[in-house]
Amino acid sequence: MAQALILQVVQSFQLNELYQRVILTGAGLERLPENSAALHIKLFFKRPGQQQLSLHLLAKNRHQRQTDQQNTLTEPLSDELKPSSRTYSIRHYDRANNLLTVDFVLHADPGIACTWAKTALKGDQVGLAGPGPMRMCNLEARAFLLIGDASSLPAIMAVIDQLPLQAKVQVVIELPKGHLPFIDCKRVSNINWHWLEQTFTPQTVLLPLIKSLALSLPETSVAIASEHKTVLCLRQYFRSLCIDKNYLYCVPYWRHRQNEETYHDARHRVMDS
Ligand SMILES: Cc1cc2nc3c(=O)[nH]c(=O)nc-3n(C[C@H](O)[C@H](O)[C@H](O)COP(=O)(O)OP(=O)(O)OC[C@H]3O[C@@H](n4cnc5c(N)ncnc54)[C@H](O)[C@@H]3O)c2cc1C
Repeated sequence: MAQALILQVVQSFQLNELYQRVILTGAGLERLPENSAALHIKLFFKRPGQQQLSLHLLAKNRHQRQTDQQNTLTEPLSDELKPSSRTYSIRHYDRANNLLTVDFVLHADPGIACTWAKTALKGDQVGLAGPGPMRMCNLEARAFLLIGDASSLPAIMAVIDQLPLQAKVQVVIELPKGHLPFIDCKRVSNINWHWLEQTFTPQTVLLPLIKSLALSLPETSVAIASEHKTVLCLRQYFRSLCIDKNYLYCVPYWRHRQNEETYHDARHRVMDS
């Protein structure tokens, strides 16, 4: 990923019970490519007790190192100064006004990122690296199956708005118990939405539903972006159908009862396997 940027909060507001929308701006954001919606980014947050986002120190340090002939500011950041990082998706980038929108799930067991989003005030700082290049869908496909949960719904809705209008789109979303379907995309035609309660037992309801969908697999791009266990279960199913790997996106977005620090390495092992 390209060099990290420091962004400022322009606005933060609750979209509904499940999401906090944060709108960010900052110098350097213009590097986001066209069609950046749904690409993933890394966000960096202050550690608890830190006065200042250390990325800011890092950026200042880097800048001074570039201009300082003596090269006296070459100290690397110590571990306590390193920021916490989380992965999010670009919901929307408004190039004309240089505004980046990110939707944060307000999950029941709050972590660094969702707490930061909920309490973010105008002018607060956050670091950004990315975006990463991986796309959820293969745009050469004629049909699309997008399977996710609250964490991937912002990216899924961003993707839906980019798909060709004639493409047949099926969307399967698991939401925590008691939460109502939430659709916030421009495209409305040619989409079948399926909403389920998230139970972390994908074999019971989710997998049978997926098996019941009439899919023309060679022509369908399948994206699975959800909780760890669901992704593993569905990946195994689609691999058993010998789906072309260029038509399958499988990324675990989080893991039940683990935070990003404890899950990070395991996620990368899942993605490498
Ligand atoms: C490519 C990619 C794109 C992503 N895009 C988005 C996005 O646009 N919006 C978004 O909200 N998330 C997104 N995520 C998921 C997000 O990175 C994780 O949910 C992250 O763990 C949240 O950090 P946190 O500090 O709030 O919670 P953590 O400190 O990581 O976790 C604290 C506790 O909350 C639980 N938890 C974490 N996430 C959730 C959740 N979604 N639902 C229920 N419980 C949870 C954990 O199991 C843990 O018990 C994305 C992940 C990936 C890999």
